[in-house]
Amino acid sequence: MSRSHGVPVPISTEATGRLLARVARTSTCWIWMGAVSSPDGYGRFYLRDGERSRAVTPQRYLYEQQSGPLARSATLMHQCEVRICCRVDQAHVIAGTQTRNMQDAAWRGRARGSRPGLVDVRGPVGQARAIQHAMRASADSSSSALALILADVIAAGDPLRNNLALFDPLGPDMAAAGRDVFGDPVQ
Ligand SMILES: [Zn+2]
Repeated sequence: MSRSHGVPVPISTEATGRLLARVARTSTCWIWMGAVSSPDGYGRFYLRDGERSRAVTPQRYLYEQQSGPLARSATLMHQCEVRICCRVDQAHVIAGTQTRNMQDAAWRGRARGSRPGLVDVRGPVGQARAIQHAMRASADSSSSALALILADVIAAGDPLRNNLALFDPLGPDMAAAGRDVFGDPVQ
């Protein structure tokens, strides 16, 4: 959490336009195409705050632009798990408390079963670079085509991508529970 947490982001038409010009909108995530901080892999958007230059995440800027200052006790969470996504939406970036964030992470870890969670073999920065590269290479594509490209780039960093058939979380668990792949009871 940055020291500037809780200090409202200065919103301006100029800054909003500059930020949105660096966003590739897929039909799912909105991908930040600007600077990425290392090693955490989150976007960095630079803007003027009075006399000083300030960096915020693009999702923080867009959240405050749409909803007003983020409460001091709140933090922004990625429901979509794409760190350079800046779409403020229930399925992407939402505001919550740190406690809620940790509960969410724990719940997702359990829900994933044998999958090792959010690990990407390229690391957070490597994943961000790979996503940005793919978006840039396909800039003329439709938003739905970009969403498919995004899903492919993310899948390419999955350490178990060659073992997905063996680790399908719905397969063995559901069978053990007496249910088929649709979750219906096996007759
Ligand atoms: Zn997203």
